[in-house]
Amino acid sequence: MDGRRTVIPTTMQDFPLTLTSILQHAVAVHPDSECVTWTGDPATTRRATYAEVAANAARLAHALARLGLEAGDRVATLCWNHQEHLEAYFAVPCMGGVLHTLNLRLPADQLWFIANQAEDRFVIVDADLLPLLGAFAGRVGALEGVIVVGHTDLDNIEGIPVYDYATIIAAEEPEYDWPELDERSASAMCYTSGTTGDPKGVVYSHRSSYLQAMVGLATATLGSSEPDRLLPIVPMFHVNAWGIPHGALLSGASLLMPSRYLQAEHLTAFIAQERATGLAGVPTVLNWILGYGEHTPIDLSSLRYILSGGAAASHAMLERFQTRYGVRVVQGWGMTETSPLCGVAIPPDELEPGSKEDLDWRMHSARVAPGVQLRIMGQNGEPLPHDGIAAGEIEVRGPWITGSYFVGVGVPDPSTDRFRDGWLRTGDIATVDRRGYLKITDRLKDVIKSGGEWISSVELEDRLCSHPGVAAAAVIGVPDPQWSERPLACVVRAPGAAEASVPELAALLAGSLAKWQVPDQWSFLPELPLTSVGKVDKKVLRARHAAGELPMEAR
Ligand code: AMP
Repeated sequence: MDGRRTVIPTTMQDFPLTLTSILQHAVAVHPDSECVTWTGDPATTRRATYAEVAANAARLAHALARLGLEAGDRVATLCWNHQEHLEAYFAVPCMGGVLHTLNLRLPADQLWFIANQAEDRFVIVDADLLPLLGAFAGRVGALEGVIVVGHTDLDNIEGIPVYDYATIIAAEEPEYDWPELDERSASAMCYTSGTTGDPKGVVYSHRSSYLQAMVGLATATLGSSEPDRLLPIVPMFHVNAWGIPHGALLSGASLLMPSRYLQAEHLTAFIAQERATGLAGVPTVLNWILGYGEHTPIDLSSLRYILSGGAAASHAMLERFQTRYGVRVVQGWGMTETSPLCGVAIPPDELEPGSKEDLDWRMHSARVAPGVQLRIMGQNGEPLPHDGIAAGEIEVRGPWITGSYFVGVGVPDPSTDRFRDGWLRTGDIATVDRRGYLKITDRLKDVIKSGGEWISSVELEDRLCSHPGVAAAAVIGVPDPQWSERPLACVVRAPGAAEASVPELAALLAGSLAKWQVPDQWSFLPELPLTSVGKVDKKVLRARHAAGELPMEAR
């Protein structure tokens, strides 16, 4: 060697990671896997193979091109989970557009803000959601056309032409000459569910969505494959239904789409009829299924797992699914900003399903997924040890984690405080152990600080839910002159169950927690307020408490 260093170039092809290649893979390898849409009546269940879905995606792309859609243009969807939504999931990004999923549970004014800021040119909407669209469509500056899935007699909304989805695609060719796309170009966007201030946009790229789909195939997470039949209860407007539709076309897993039928009676009938192997949803909805099963026989025998995410699952919920139905619930953690999947709490060893050890592992929020880097930071910005004890704010980075927010075309993101040296500050407080298992103890904004000590609302809620008379629980911090804050437990009693009284519940908590952590104020409510994505809305509870609207009981 004469001291000169040589650099050799890679011999690998520079092949872009795009949703187009996922769609093409589905056609080439899994043409017979299917998208099944529940219509509320088992006799009229709709089926389409992935080959047919891809053909319709091509037809939709032709139709959108004919309407004038150009590369980079946003196409919104205001739809339930169903076949046409899946077709749009691929047609729009693969033709070079950006799919913008709108949350149909948001009020019209917020939808207007979001659609207007994103400059949506077209919207694909379910016929039953037209009244909601009608309340804001006329004020969306860029909107040029409304495409309706289902029947409508309207031919325009506030002068914006209305097209019928089935009619416009029927006239088109089932193949499309998909353009070559830059893997770093935008594929889809979604707004955070917005707890304070205006909602903020997160814009996914083809590359980030592709890699997110791949991680869903890893056995370290869901291990999806062709025999799977996945039922995303999580809406397609909530972070791409957690990446499940993309992962399904890549793995060949079939998709079971519940449409607007999210009641337990429909979901369980659909699961049983279609032999679902995987379910994904927030704990609130999963608890509805358990509640329904209390008085009606349900068949969950086909399920390989249930993925619970979006909020902490309780030990009681995991145990009930396991002992009553033999179904393993695994928790996943992520957020809109992280595409969302950052990990699933799969136990490290093969363990007896339902054993204490197995449940203990599954009570973690997640195990960090391959491809994601995670650290926890203390209150002064110092990295904390991964010892399973120290709790700090989770920061993450990786190829499917956002590096900024979208707040309008050409508008700089002002929320730079949400990032630190290229890491996203998640606002979630957690412990993490040396093997990457994390446990969320709270959201930063929900933390209860009493006498200088943190009280974990997640832990209190979990203990409360272990009481058979408790259907749901949420613990919030309320101002206190002596301790600055004290926990207030809001409890929903289980119907027909033995009365859960304050002394009984307080004694239950005192059995495993320090005395000062036990709430001294209690409120029994008929139900808990929910956010637009089905999580308990603590903001509303705090506001109701501040306004003196909560019925209170002291310990
Ligand atoms: P979203 O952007 O609506 O998906 O909300 C993301 C937030 O949901 C996270 O920042 C967490 O606070 C919460 N979350 C997600 N998964 C979990 C989980 N497994 N346990 C507790 N909280 C979770």
